[in-house]
Amino acid sequence: MAQRAMLHVKKGDTVVVLAGKEKGRSGKIMSVNLKKSRVFVEKINMIKRHSRPSKTAPQGGIIEKEGPLHASNVNLLCPKCNKAVRARSRMLEDGKKVRVCAKCSEILDQ
Ligand SMILES: [Zn+2]
Repeated sequence: MAQRAMLHVKKGDTVVVLAGKEKGRSGKIMSVNLKKSRVFVEKINMIKRHSRPSKTAPQGGIIEKEGPLHASNVNLLCPKCNKAVRARSRMLEDGKKVRVCAKCSEILDQ
């Protein structure tokens, strides 16, 4: 059976950050942690990890990677409204369910 647990956003969505130090920035969701309601957004909330010296990197090093954002702090970006919007679900004629912008009805699912 397909996994039913869903957040209001999913992998591949373009979202806007609503809170925190990256507020107002947008990016594409790279991955989602459903259990923790966290999302990882491309180039947002970059964190530096210091890695210990190892055989491959004797000096150790700094790795930059995306840090998690709570899913409630992001919302879908409507390309037409050019801002964060609420999404509504709409059934297409072929029975497919898509998310549309609550304001302008633009289809937000790719
Ligand atoms: Zn819109």
